Amino acid sequence: MDKRVFTAFLMAFIIALASCSMIPLAFAKLDSSRPPDIEQVIFIHFAKGKAKPPSGETGYYKLIGAKWQNFPVHLEVNPDAGDKLVGNIDVLYTIQLAAEEWDSGAYSQLEGIAWYGVAPDLFSDTIAITDKGYNDLAWTRDKLDGCNTIVWGNYPTEGVIAVTILWYNKATKTIIEFDIVLDTDYTWGNATQDPTVMDLQNIVTHELGHGIGLGDVYQSPAYQETMYGYSGYGETSKRDLYIGDKTGATKLYG
Ligand SMILES: [Zn+2]
Repeated sequence: MDKRVFTAFLMAFIIALASCSMIPLAFAKLDSSRPPDIEQVIFIHFAKGKAKPPSGETGYYKLIGAKWQNFPVHLEVNPDAGDKLVGNIDVLYTIQLAAEEWDSGAYSQLEGIAWYGVAPDLFSDTIAITDKGYNDLAWTRDKLDGCNTIVWGNYPTEGVIAVTILWYNKATKTIIEFDIVLDTDYTWGNATQDPTVMDLQNIVTHELGHGIGLGDVYQSPAYQETMYGYSGYGETSKRDLYIGDKTGATKLYG
């Protein structure tokens, strides 16, 4: 091989490793002699009008039965939404805010270690940028790459705002990877500035809740929860965790 080509190849490999630091760990698990006992679960976030105000109990949460064992959980994002993102939105910063809500908004964390660890301080992780697209997500087992990836794309079913594809090891109840697609059927933005858009921070906060191991709740009185399973244009209530979200996170991680 030509030396320059080899050098370029080596550099690309190093960059890939640096931008996706979970690769070696994930491949090590997948390559073990016993076939990994892994399971996929797909969370589909539908559009619906606002539910009625709550009456009585409001602490709703659902656990999927798996969680992360190592922190922080790395994120990578393709910030290209084509013409489906309006307003002057910093995609990475908005997703960082969504991740921080789980890092700091829940009742407890593992001895102060943030789950996503993207808070803007000296010890924080950074969100990597990727050019991956819809077809690179872990729709099938062979697409598992150890990266937790967020992209825009066109999910074929109508009325779907976002989808989280999550894989976990059934035997160890450990999450392996999740990927998120934000549907280009909708116009995205910051709904505090423009209530006609789908609020990016709102929806990503919900999907990142799936990422730490929480399922959707659909009971009408649970509409204030971040993990409430429906959303609509202009909604921002999922940006902040509510009672059940915090209880669920605490049940998972102590
Ligand atoms: Zn959901």
